[in-house]
Amino acid sequence: MFLEKLRRFMYGRYGTDELNLVLMILGIIVMFLSRIFWFWPLAIISYALYIYALFRMFSRNIPARQKEYYSFLKVWTPVQKWFRIKKTAFRERKQYKYFRCPGCRQQLRAPRGRGKILVTCQRCHKQFKQKT
Ligand SMILES: [Zn+2]
Repeated sequence: MFLEKLRRFMYGRYGTDELNLVLMILGIIVMFLSRIFWFWPLAIISYALYIYALFRMFSRNIPARQKEYYSFLKVWTPVQKWFRIKKTAFRERKQYKYFRCPGCRQQLRAPRGRGKILVTCQRCHKQFKQKT
């Protein structure tokens, strides 16, 4: 009964996405910070983040919300990618050395313990010496 009502209420509304999740988590973090430092403007920011997330959830202007989501992804995807590379590099730190190509900044890796090797970047074909 309640679920049916909720479904009817949410019909034609945007619902939730990753951006809302990030807004909520940010809201929690900012709320914590405001409690730790007893700094009330942070509490207002935290409420604003929650209200914005709720507003997006119940919004009927779906194209506008999708547009927000796509601009969010433009920033969020590289951030996620960076964290994923750092995580993998940490997990494989004993087997592989991670470094960037000096030509195109492409992330590369080589097995450790081979001394100085000549690396050829697969993206820009630049050759450079790298200690492994
Ligand atoms: Zn390169």
